[in-house]
Amino acid sequence: MFAAVTEDKHLDALTRIYTKDYFIEHAGSMFRENPETDFCIVEFEVNRLSMINDMYGLGEGDRVLKTIAKVLLEIFNEVELSLVCRVQSDTFAFACPYDKENLETYINGIEDNLKQLSSNLSVDLLMSFGVYVVCDKRLSILSMCERANLALRSVKGNYIQHVGYFTESMRDKAVEETEITAKMNAALINNEFKIYFQPKHSLDDERVVGAEALVRWITPEKGVVSPDKFIPLFEENGFIMKLDAYVWEETCRFIKENQEKGIEVPPISVNVSQVDLYNPHLVDTLVGLTRKYAIDPKMLKLEFTESAYTESTQQMLGIMDKFHEHGMEIDMDDFGSGYSALNVLKDVPVDGLKIDLKFLSKTNEDNSGKAKRILAAVIHMAKWLGIPAIVEGVETIEQVDHLKSLGCTMVQGFYYARPMPESEFVKYIKTKSTRVKLETERPFDEVVINPDEWWENVGSDCEPILEMNTCHILFDRGVGDELGVIRASDSLYEIIGGRERFFNKPFTFDTIVNNDDRKRFFEMFDEINDYHSIGKSICRLELDGQVIWADFKIRLLEKNEDHRVFFAVVDDVTRSVASVLNLSI
Ligand code: C2E
Ligand code: CA
Ligand code: CA
Repeated sequence: MFAAVTEDKHLDALTRIYTKDYFIEHAGSMFRENPETDFCIVEFEVNRLSMINDMYGLGEGDRVLKTIAKVLLEIFNEVELSLVCRVQSDTFAFACPYDKENLETYINGIEDNLKQLSSNLSVDLLMSFGVYVVCDKRLSILSMCERANLALRSVKGNYIQHVGYFTESMRDKAVEETEITAKMNAALINNEFKIYFQPKHSLDDERVVGAEALVRWITPEKGVVSPDKFIPLFEENGFIMKLDAYVWEETCRFIKENQEKGIEVPPISVNVSQVDLYNPHLVDTLVGLTRKYAIDPKMLKLEFTESAYTESTQQMLGIMDKFHEHGMEIDMDDFGSGYSALNVLKDVPVDGLKIDLKFLSKTNEDNSGKAKRILAAVIHMAKWLGIPAIVEGVETIEQVDHLKSLGCTMVQGFYYARPMPESEFVKYIKTKSTRVKLETERPFDEVVINPDEWWENVGSDCEPILEMNTCHILFDRGVGDELGVIRASDSLYEIIGGRERFFNKPFTFDTIVNNDDRKRFFEMFDEINDYHSIGKSICRLELDGQVIWADFKIRLLEKNEDHRVFFAVVDDVTRSVASVLNLSI
C-alpha cells in the first residue's frame, strides 16, 4: 500500500481508512511519481445497507462498513502502489495498478467477505463496482473518480452484472443529462412541454373509446424529443413530479375546453410515475384538478406502471382505495414488463389492464409462439376477472386480426394512430366517431395531386391527410438507410401488391426501388429538413419483374433524433414516361 504519514483528520471517523479528500491528494502524487504504471480507480457501493440499518439498527450497518474497510486494508496491504478510502456513507474506492486478472481477484475477495456477512445477517447484500482504467493521466483525480462513479451507476441495481467499466458513451450520456437538467425548469416555464394524445380504439366498431396523454419536449434546437430521452432522468432527479402535475393539469384543461365546445371527448388517461407515489398530496392533487376544472373524475384515468404495484404494494393499495372513493379509475400499465405473476391481478383492484405487445415479444422471433400463448392467457385471465384489457403497441393488421380472434376489445397503437398534437386529436375525435380507417380511395389515375394545395389546406396536421383520397404513404426514415412504412392508402397497396408485402418483415421500401434510382430516391429524403419544403423524384419501382415509374412528392411530418416521418403522395406515371421515351408497355 502507498505509504503516507497520516494524521487523524485524514482518516474517516468510522472506518479509520482514508477520507476521499486525502485519497485524491495521495492518488495524485502516487500517479505522478509512477508515470510508467497503468493505474485504475474503482468505486464500489454496498446496496441495501439501509435495510440492515432498518432491521438491525444503525450499529449493525456501521459494523458492515467497518468490516468492508478492514477487508480492503487486508487485501491492499499486499498490493504495492495502492490506496483505499471511504468516499461517503456506503461507497468506497481504491486505486491500484491495473491488471484485469488481479482486479478480478480483489473484487472477488471483497465480495466473498461480504457474502459471509450477508449470510450471518440473513440479508442479501449486493455490491456494485465501477472501474475507470486510467488512460488519460492528465485528468484530475476527481474526474477519474467521477468516471469510476459513472461506471458504477451503469450497473447499480443490476443483479446479474455487478462490475461496470467506464466507456466514453457514459460520459456523453452524463453530459447530455447535465444539459437536460440545466434546461428543464426553464423549458417548463416556456411551455416547451406539449401533450400529445394517442387514441384508444374499440375493436368492435373502431370508435375512439379513450386516449392517452403522452408528453413531448419540443426544443428549439432538436424539435420533438420523445419521453424516453428525459423521463428516466426526471424520475431520478425528482423533476417528474412537477412535469406530471403539469401534464395532468393540461389534460384537464383540454377536456374541459373541448367539452365546452360541445365536442365529445373520450376519457383521457395520464401516466403517474412511481416517484409520484412519494408525494403525500398525490390524491388531493389529482382529485383537486378534476374539481378545479369541473370534470367528471371518470374522465381523467390514471396509468400506474406494473412495477409500482409489485414494489410498493401496500402503499399502492392505500392510494388506489382513496382514488376509488373519489370515483377515479386506475389502469395497470405495461403489464408483462416486470415479473408480476398473473395472479397478482386478483389481489389489486385495478380498473383496467394495459398489455404492451412489445413486452411479450421482446425475447426473439423463435419465442413468438410462446408470446402468443402468454397474450391469450392474459386476455382470458382479465376476462375471467372482469377487468377490461387494452392491448397497446398494435402496429399491423395481422395483430389486429389476431387480437380480435382472442376476444380483445380495445387497442392502442400505430396501426390506428400515433400520438398527435392537441389540434390534430380534436379533428381526429370529430371524424373518428364515424370513420376510422382510411379506405375507399378513388381509382389511382383519377387522382390529381398538387402538393402545394393539399399542404395549404391541411397545414402540418397529419390526420386530414390520412383521410385524403390520394394514393399516399407514410414513411419512417430511421438511422442508416432504413426506410419503413408506417401506413399507406389502399390504392398504394394495390400498386405494390398488397399490404402483406409491407408488413412481412424484414421489408424495407427501398428494396423495391430500382438500383440505379436508389441514390436519387434517398437524396430526396435527405434534402428535406423543414416542414415546408417538398421533395420530388421520379423513380422506378420493380415489382415481381414489372417496372413502374412512380412520381414521389414528399413532405416532412415529424422529426426527432432517431427518425423522420414523411408523407408521400405517389403518382403512377408509367404511361406518360413510356410515351415520352417511346416505350411500349
Ligand atoms: P407508455 O406509458 O407505455 O406509453 C406508450 C408508449 O408506446 C408511447 O411512447 C407511445 O408512443 C408508444 N406506442 C404507442 N403505440 C405504439 C405502437 O404501435 N408501436 C410502438 N413501437 N410504440 C407505440 P412514448 O410517448 O415515447 O412514451 C414512452 C413512455 O414515457 C411512456 O410509456 C411512459 O412510460 C412515459 N411517459 C410519456 N409521457 C409521460 C408523462 O406525461 N408522465 C410520465 N410519468 N411518463 C410519461
Ligand atoms: Ca402509459
Ligand atoms: Ca404502456
